[in-house]
Amino acid sequence: MPLPLDGTRILVTNDDGIEAPGLAALERIARQLSSDVWVVAPATEQSGAAHSLTLHSPLRISERAKQRFAVTGTPTDCVVLAVREILQGHKPGLILSGVNAGSNLGEDVTYSGTVAAAMEGTLLDIPSVAFSQMYNGDKAKIQWDSAEHYLPDLIVQLVEMGIPENTLINVNLPDLRPHEISGIKVAPQGKRKLGDNISRRLDPEGRPYYWIGGVRNEDKEHAATDLAAIRNGYITVTPLCLDLTHYTVLEAFDAKFTRHFSTPKTVSGV
Ligand code: MN
Repeated sequence: MPLPLDGTRILVTNDDGIEAPGLAALERIARQLSSDVWVVAPATEQSGAAHSLTLHSPLRISERAKQRFAVTGTPTDCVVLAVREILQGHKPGLILSGVNAGSNLGEDVTYSGTVAAAMEGTLLDIPSVAFSQMYNGDKAKIQWDSAEHYLPDLIVQLVEMGIPENTLINVNLPDLRPHEISGIKVAPQGKRKLGDNISRRLDPEGRPYYWIGGVRNEDKEHAATDLAAIRNGYITVTPLCLDLTHYTVLEAFDAKFTRHFSTPKTVSGV
């Protein structure tokens, strides 16, 4: 039986690094879809790297296995080098980023290297999807069976629907076994309020140091967000737009601020 996306070159990347179990899970998912799967991922963990690009140090590519490469840079570097260098001449038709160990919900999308890899793919006009697995407790005990159970069909459906240009898709899975998942919900980006998330400690010399933690209070006033949906056991699908312009405010500002200055007249006789 032919694979559902056979003939489509798939690039798999992440921000947890080339050794991450979530990357291996996404590779297995990609191989269920196409026989042309390539992996280009950071050599070391880049969580929280957002959309950063390495400009001031050299980048090295090492081939770890057939069609599998590590890059000494960020997720964005990986996508750029994959498309422009490693796969030059035959760019991927689909980029899958993840599966991240930990959710990327609400404003996480602005910090996330997982989401940023999909942003870079979108900028290169390649349909791109980011995947993240929520977990409570021990990161080493994350099970990827829900991702492997639900994502192949979801990816095929997204490809069939068509991902519009300038748009990337952010997918999050709840910390549940496959049979416990309520379904799939398309939901907007939610918001968390800044919580008690900075811890101050003292080093052995008595000097303070700081750790920015993950404790944040969710804004529960907005019930229809990705945060609410995942709390109710749904896999969330959030389309994100790379044009960050707020058009309603743009129109209001345009009406108020836009001015046309007349060109200064040349003074005659000078
Ligand atoms: Mn990560």
